[in-house]
Amino acid sequence: MSYVGLGHGVHVVIGGAFPKCNTLVVVSGDVVVIDPGCPIESLRALLKTLNLELRDIDTVVLSHIHPDHITHAVRLNRVSGCRIAANEVTAPLFDDKEKMKEFLGFTPGQSVRHLWEQLVNDQMYGALDEGRVDEVLHNGDKIALDDITLRTFYTKGHLPDHMCLEIMEPAYLFAADIDCTDFGPFYGHPNSSIVQLKDSIKSVKERSYNQYISGHLRNPLVQDYRQALDRYLQHFDRRDELVMKAVAAGAKSVNEILEHPIIYPSLAGPVMLQFERWMIEHHVESLIRQGKLVESNGHIFLATS
Ligand SMILES: [Zn+2]
Repeated sequence: MSYVGLGHGVHVVIGGAFPKCNTLVVVSGDVVVIDPGCPIESLRALLKTLNLELRDIDTVVLSHIHPDHITHAVRLNRVSGCRIAANEVTAPLFDDKEKMKEFLGFTPGQSVRHLWEQLVNDQMYGALDEGRVDEVLHNGDKIALDDITLRTFYTKGHLPDHMCLEIMEPAYLFAADIDCTDFGPFYGHPNSSIVQLKDSIKSVKERSYNQYISGHLRNPLVQDYRQALDRYLQHFDRRDELVMKAVAAGAKSVNEILEHPIIYPSLAGPVMLQFERWMIEHHVESLIRQGKLVESNGHIFLATS
């Protein structure tokens, strides 16, 4: 099945793992689509069961700027004339795709920028199309529909612009990339932050929801999300330990750690290796901050206590 109904006019269209994502569709007077990164045929198929079409979409909301989450936004706007809503950090990036590339670390001249653009155009076609955000949202802003209110919930760290969407009345959370996958949290850009992402995961855990909807699990409803988030948090420590092991085994730089990739052990090309590099850099920085590693003359060592 390519979609799941959660009652209250809330539906999830299954996109699953990167380079797709799960898309939330809320029908309550207006038709709102959150993160249109699922296969477009699946979105069309769900809408058909509701006697709706793509052109009936009123609003697209974006949780953050990642291409797998914004893929069809411009196309849906072209088809339906829908407004596009995004938060104050995402909006200028969506409006200017060069700014988006730089935000993600792919500045002009960056070594894999071109390959990343190719990956996006091959697998997330449309994500780099020029478009415009019509409504700029802020933390805690509400979008009121007939029987449903959506509320933004900023959850930085994965990227500085990441937010979750709360569906208030049934108390559901669309958690976007706090996705509780077995892969674990992703923070593979220069401006991602382990500290902020841990805080965001903890703040999600403190809130009470009747349904927790993952942006990437094929079975999108997370059972017992507090336990799932605890397991999700453990990935940070596990990866820290692997970095420590690599340094203990003689690696003296991020380059040397990358000889045996930790995040993507079965490495799928230079773009993934770049994500791996940025994530390992965040771990090294975090371990230095924790006093477990020291840096000297451009080399990293285990701290001796
Ligand atoms: Zn993302």
